[in-house]
Amino acid sequence: MKNYEYIESALIHGGIYGDERTGAVNTPVYQTSTYMQDGLGKNRGYEYSRTGNPTREALESLIAELEGGKAGFAFASGMAATTAVLSLFQSGDKIVISSNVYGGTFRVLDKVFQRFGFQYVIADTTDLEAFEEALTPDVKAVLIESPANPLLTVTDISAVAKIAKSKGALLIVDNTFMTPYLQRPLEHGADIVLHSATKYLGGHSDLIAGLAVVKTQELAERLHFIQNATGGVLQPFDSFLLIRSIKTLSVRMDRHVRNAVELAKLLREHKAVKTVYYPGIPDFQGYEINKRQAKSGGAMISFELREGYDTHRFFEELKIIALAESLGGVESLVCHPASMTHASIPREIREKVGITDGLIRLSVGIENVKDLSKDLQSAIERAKL
Ligand SMILES: *Cc1c(COP(=O)(O)O)cnc(C)c1O
Repeated sequence: MKNYEYIESALIHGGIYGDERTGAVNTPVYQTSTYMQDGLGKNRGYEYSRTGNPTREALESLIAELEGGKAGFAFASGMAATTAVLSLFQSGDKIVISSNVYGGTFRVLDKVFQRFGFQYVIADTTDLEAFEEALTPDVKAVLIESPANPLLTVTDISAVAKIAKSKGALLIVDNTFMTPYLQRPLEHGADIVLHSATKYLGGHSDLIAGLAVVKTQELAERLHFIQNATGGVLQPFDSFLLIRSIKTLSVRMDRHVRNAVELAKLLREHKAVKTVYYPGIPDFQGYEINKRQAKSGGAMISFELREGYDTHRFFEELKIIALAESLGGVESLVCHPASMTHASIPREIREKVGITDGLIRLSVGIENVKDLSKDLQSAIERAKL
């Protein structure tokens, strides 16, 4: 029985809360690989930590509750979670991915799964007609991100879910950019939710982790089998750290988003900025759809400087905002998608989907927004040729 109604409380009290035996308010770190058995075939619910570990289970039940799914699974990285979910399929199956999925997701499909005969096709999931056409009978799954990396492209999750369902394909949503605090894809018809918990859920740029949540018992059993069989599980201490981080998700996200809205406005009005991609400003392409399916536009902004400004120099002139891969931490980070996060995507495909060499991606942190604006403005000024 849950005694709370709201997600802010679920973040703190959800899943398996505390420790029944001692009353400890935090789940202990069960740093053990194995468990004593009371007799042959008589165990206390745990045999070996790859198969099950109480600290990992506390995290898994927490993420399942937050996403409103049947079961959750914790992995050693976001890519390990994606790999486990893709292992639900087999040779001859095909998956449709949206045009700007995470570079690593594209890479594992193109360079690993394709070798085993699992095919992929890229579709523009913002164009529902084109998307429906891509759904040939051999398509068993659709994998999308909304907003997607790095152009913040918004896909209508319910519309895509309906079409996928009518064709017998599962819908997988990588919800890394939004977290369950801002968007819950299962409520919009998705079957599986993926997270790189390295990002907002971890939130402090100090751990690598991945999570998956499934809607049905049948998928839960299949994914648990794969998790145990392939073994990319999250360690007990990292599971503990992630539970600890998730408790403060709502306060962090509120500040991330507030800062992002302010910086998006600043960039939009800046004469040196050519384009701003941010789903939280009303004239953005996916604003209305995003507003229907998410609590806000999140805290990722991409933009391009006008001609006459040197992008390389801009990166070098930033003093607070660090040039680094990754996103979703308390500190603001910038990256250059063409040479960093999306370098594994061939140039032709990259240019075609709009990931130009001048594109800058900003992960807005929770610092005082006045310091961030000052840093952005002075780096832009110094980048003038
Ligand atoms: C980072 C990221 C991943 C991969 O996660 P890792 O934890 O780095 O393995 C997957 N999807 C998205 C959207 C990401 O940003």
